[in-house]
This record gives sequence, C-alpha cells and structure tokens, in this order.
Amino acid sequence: MIKNNRFISIYLSLFIYMLFFYGCETPFDGIDTSGVSKSGKSKTAPDITDGGVNRYLNLMSLNYSDTVITGKFHDWRPESKYRLKAGYHNGYDFAAPAGTEVPAGWEGTVTDIIYWGYGEFAVKIKKNKQMTQYGHMNNLRVCIGQKITTGQIIGKIAVDHVDVKMKVNGYYYDFGKQ
Ligand SMILES: [Zn+2]
Repeated sequence: MIKNNRFISIYLSLFIYMLFFYGCETPFDGIDTSGVSKSGKSKTAPDITDGGVNRYLNLMSLNYSDTVITGKFHDWRPESKYRLKAGYHNGYDFAAPAGTEVPAGWEGTVTDIIYWGYGEFAVKIKKNKQMTQYGHMNNLRVCIGQKITTGQIIGKIAVDHVDVKMKVNGYYYDFGKQ
C-alpha cells in the first residue's frame, strides 16, 4: 500500500513537472548563477539600476490601464489563508482583474515555480544577486531555466492582484524606495 502511494506520488510529480515544461519555447540552458556570491549574504547597498515600483506599475498598466498599488513594502498583514502568522508584507501588490497578463519587471532566469495553493502559483526570476518573485498567478508561460526579458508576459493574475517581492543579496528589498 505504501509502495503504491509512493508510485502514485512519483507519477503525479512527473505529471506536474511536465505541465511546467509544456509550452516552453526556450530550451533549458541552465540557471545563470554568474555573479552570485558564494561567500554568503551581505546587507550592503544593492546595485539595482533598472527602475522600481513606478516602472513596474507602468508595465502593468500596459495590460490593464487602471492597475493600482494596493499593498506596500512593510505594511502590516494579519493572518490569512496565505499566511500562518501576522507579519510585514515584504513586497508590493498591484491590483488588476483576474486574467490580466503579468509582465516580468526585471530580466533574469526562472529558478523556481511554486504552488501556493488555491490554484495560484509564484515564479522566481533571478539575475546575479537580485531575485524577483511574482505571486498569485495562474496560466503560467514560463518554465524552470527559461531566460526572461523585462516586459515579457510570465502568467496571468489568478484573483485580483499580483504580489511582487524582491530580494537583493538574500534580503527583502524595497524596490519602491528608488
Ligand atoms: Zn502581497
């Protein structure tokens, strides 16, 4: 019985894995880790020069002109179905209707596709010491290892907003400060 369950879960994982690769036009060519420090995390000032929260708002507005920011960095958040504990919000929420296409705000390589439950996914895109994560999406158009350019559509809004978080050198970074 246990053995059977294990087989089922292996096949299920394979199936989910294949779903992620389905429709991926860019061949897998490895994850770009050039420039990633192996010496550990640092709190030194990040070297982001390619724009911030307003530039991303403009990108979202190309797909839905009334996109608004409904959540900001370090807003306090109560417990919710997505959150076991109350705490700070480490990103920005951009509100637009379900089905609105979500662009990448920063270029990089897709390193993670995470299932958040409730039919919603998050995608992580990394370049050097910078990682951006886009959450609450469905209809993903990416696969692991794919190179993404700024403005490229990566998925669609699942419910009513996309949550965008950034880490630099391993720490959450307020990209609205710029
Ligand atoms: Zn959020």
